[in-house]
Amino acid sequence: MDVDVLKRIKIREQEPKVRATNFEEVCLGYNEEEAVAEASRCLNCKNPNCVKDCPVSIKIPDFISHIKNKEYVKAYEIISEDSALPSICGRVCPQETQCEMHCIRGIKGEAVSIGKLERFVGDYIKENNIDVKVDIKENNIKVAVVGAGPAGLTCAGELRKLGYDVTIYEALHKAGGVLTYGIPEFRLPKDKIVKKEVEKVEKLGVKIKLNTIVGKTIKIDDLLNDGVKAIFVASGAGLPQFMHIPGENANGVSSANEFLTRVNLMHAYDKNYDTPIKVGKTALVIGGGNVAMDAARTALRLGAETHIVYRRGEEELPARAEEVHHAKEEGVIFDLLTNIKEVLVDENNNTIGAKLVKMELGEADASGRRSPKEVAGSDYEIKCDTVIMALGTTPNPIIVKNTEGIETNKKGCIVVNEESMTTKKGVFAGGDIVIGAATVILAMEAGKKAAKYMDEFIKNN
Ligand code: FAD
Ligand code: SF4
Repeated sequence: MDVDVLKRIKIREQEPKVRATNFEEVCLGYNEEEAVAEASRCLNCKNPNCVKDCPVSIKIPDFISHIKNKEYVKAYEIISEDSALPSICGRVCPQETQCEMHCIRGIKGEAVSIGKLERFVGDYIKENNIDVKVDIKENNIKVAVVGAGPAGLTCAGELRKLGYDVTIYEALHKAGGVLTYGIPEFRLPKDKIVKKEVEKVEKLGVKIKLNTIVGKTIKIDDLLNDGVKAIFVASGAGLPQFMHIPGENANGVSSANEFLTRVNLMHAYDKNYDTPIKVGKTALVIGGGNVAMDAARTALRLGAETHIVYRRGEEELPARAEEVHHAKEEGVIFDLLTNIKEVLVDENNNTIGAKLVKMELGEADASGRRSPKEVAGSDYEIKCDTVIMALGTTPNPIIVKNTEGIETNKKGCIVVNEESMTTKKGVFAGGDIVIGAATVILAMEAGKKAAKYMDEFIKNN
């Protein structure tokens, strides 16, 4: 295969017009020949910038050089030293602002496609059913994990490798957290990828108890009284925020979380399931982050003309560049520097439209971002059947409210010390529940770090 060292090997994707009507994966990934060719672009830098910019410091040039030599299992073993979920991170990590941002190849040409190579390695292992053996020396000490998202799964896997008897308690009927109920199938296939990652953790011997809400079905103190020596709380930040504008409680208005959960977890898009979903002719998605892009691209696939309504401009969009690009290609309409003021309803409280207003950017606020201000007299109305609020999420307080001694900060996030322990002895926490809605890789990093400190805590107490 010919390689122009300045350019990436092009990744194969479904055509925009075709994929806008189905839920199959958009990006088709590299095949072996393409992966080896892309790997050959890496300069194997002595002081690699890519590693410095990776939140978990994956040994990037090392794993890429094994791809170059077609040693894919070795490449996988190297990634696994620092990341438990390569097929997932290769798909959803914001590589353009992490490992690929300062890749030396990017100075004169295009950065090495590190994420797509990571995905190739993870998928190769799955597709070829390769089991990477782990020797576990049982210690029969019970530990518990709350939440089966990336933080919980990673922590559970790490503790199990150290010999612990690990049980994860998960509120929903499927494991995976946001990977299962939030990120859509067309970005992250559930059966092909997420389910297999969960099975990998189960194969290690981790037990997962589904349909168990910690704080309600079972309490943290019950677990501690039952001989559990340490607990990791990784319950995420799944509580949606609303704007409190008139009409927001109308039929047809929902949070992005509820909308995506109905579609992803409860298969609302599949005629064989009876989960109701109705997007109508026109859907507005309010917000400009990854969640907004996922909700918009999902509404589009369900047949609605879909608008992103975002109060800042293109440059300020917080979503990954790739998601914005894909959404535009598929036909999502971007109403930028625009805000919603009211949801318009009929006499039966059904959504029939929205009152929008134009915005302009003023002075930078404390976060350095320019604050949007309404342009006086620029209100206008638009007809729509659905409004989806993608305004961010906060932690659900259920565990903290029902447990003595776990402190939270102003945002409702659990406070932890340097060693990931909460203000309650033996109870640790990490992922979105501690830092607020963030990323998969940061959740994984928190899970790994907590496992190390839980092990030390148990040995010293
Ligand atoms: P979660 O993934 O939220 O998992 C928490 C788990 O705990 C859930 O399964 C929940 O059901 C369970 N739980 C909650 N309360 C209880 C309880 N009381 N008892 C038992 N179980 C409980 N990040 C990226 O890096 N790239 C992306 O492209 C990206 N896209 C996203 C798209 C969407 C739509 C959303 C919502 C998020 C996205 N993120 C993305 C963010 C990322 O998914 C999260 O940061 C990450 O999943 C956090 O992991 P976690 O394990 O802390 O929590
Ligand atoms: Fe390879 Fe780029 Fe990392 Fe250098 S910075 S080792 S070229 S991926």
